[in-house]
Amino acid sequence: MHEFKYKNNHLYCEAVKVEDLARRFGTPLYVYSYRTIIDHFFKLQSAFRPVDALVCYSVKANSNLAILKGLVDKGAGLDIVSGGELFRALKVECPPEKIVYASVGKTEKEIEEAVRKGILFFNVESLPELESINRVSRMLGKVPRIAIRINPDVEAGTHKFITTGKLTNKFGIDLKSAYKIILLRDKFSYVNICGLHIHIGSQITSPGPFVAAIKKISAFILELKRKGVSLEYLNIGGGLGIVYNQETPQTAQRYARRILPYLKKTGLKIILEPGRFIVGNAGILVTRVLYVKESSKKKFIIVNSGMNDLIRPALYGAYHKILPLRLQGRKFAALQKADVVGPICESGDFLAKERKLPKVKEGDFLAVMSAGAYGFSMSSNYNSRCRAEEVMVVGDRVFVIRKRETFDDLIRNEKIPQFLLGL
Ligand SMILES: *Cc1c(COP(=O)(O)O)cnc(C)c1O
Repeated sequence: MHEFKYKNNHLYCEAVKVEDLARRFGTPLYVYSYRTIIDHFFKLQSAFRPVDALVCYSVKANSNLAILKGLVDKGAGLDIVSGGELFRALKVECPPEKIVYASVGKTEKEIEEAVRKGILFFNVESLPELESINRVSRMLGKVPRIAIRINPDVEAGTHKFITTGKLTNKFGIDLKSAYKIILLRDKFSYVNICGLHIHIGSQITSPGPFVAAIKKISAFILELKRKGVSLEYLNIGGGLGIVYNQETPQTAQRYARRILPYLKKTGLKIILEPGRFIVGNAGILVTRVLYVKESSKKKFIIVNSGMNDLIRPALYGAYHKILPLRLQGRKFAALQKADVVGPICESGDFLAKERKLPKVKEGDFLAVMSAGAYGFSMSSNYNSRCRAEEVMVVGDRVFVIRKRETFDDLIRNEKIPQFLLGL
């Protein structure tokens, strides 16, 4: 469910006409629905109430402080993957005991900061990383909790760039090696190995892969129990798919119903790390048509947002619905097939290919739907383009949550050496 709907042929976000936002704030513009974000969070939280799970929102999906603050205030924890995300988490006063930290490449500095703050646990992705955490925490005289990220070697049935639970992926530790590490845990006296973690990929639309992974890991937990190893936490990651086009993803309820029996059997405290599920359909990217270009072979709708604003189509061949902010009066307005492309100097700079769209003309506004996750957070300044403005709608109120960048922002950290200035 989301709060972007047509009323009287105009697209609305909650009670606000999106076209008014486009005119007031300019484009490209990210528009988020606060209610949708919070609704998705509560849906997951209530589905997993039977195990009293802690839902740690995955910051990388959309790391805007307002979104983090909104979720943290409702009781969410945060799943972070860098020192920068730890900084954001602490900025919004997320209690450290609700922060979990994954990443295959944590630096000693990042580890030290997280140990000092007393986060809930590290999701550890390799033996050398475990040694590194052990070394840092000995120096600090602390004993942080850690969960071993298991690579369960299951197919997630999603795009290969967002599959993370196969042994050919860089993530996690295979079961055999994890077993060895856990049995040798006395060697690592400055870490408390108290949990396991899995995250098998993203945009997974059926429960099968989750069930397969959780079956494997719960068997592993029982095996450890027999060896006298008792754990406290099971972090089942994120990865829940959403509707971009024709997908029929599992609901939070169905997902929970399928895996709760296994989770209950472990008796462990359950952590979830949803990103896309919470913010994906809670945001759109609003763009304006600059030109309609027709060649003998093709029609191009050239818009003022490109791969620097939303890289998912270029990176994953991802599909995003594209809708006009204003529907034409005639119900069956003629459709035309066109590529919707940005202004960037790359052939990969497209938002849609061979897409059937109602006729558009210069100056029209379009909404790129389902752009709330991995949209702004993956955006860049490529082609020296200023990153978009972000606004959040709450009922009939509108808040700017990130100002549009300026040209001065683009060069803020750059320096021309004196010798080039002839000084
Ligand atoms: C990216 C990521 C998530 C969130 O994935 P979604 O598909 O957005 O739910 C959760 N956990 C880890 C470790 C991740 O890297």
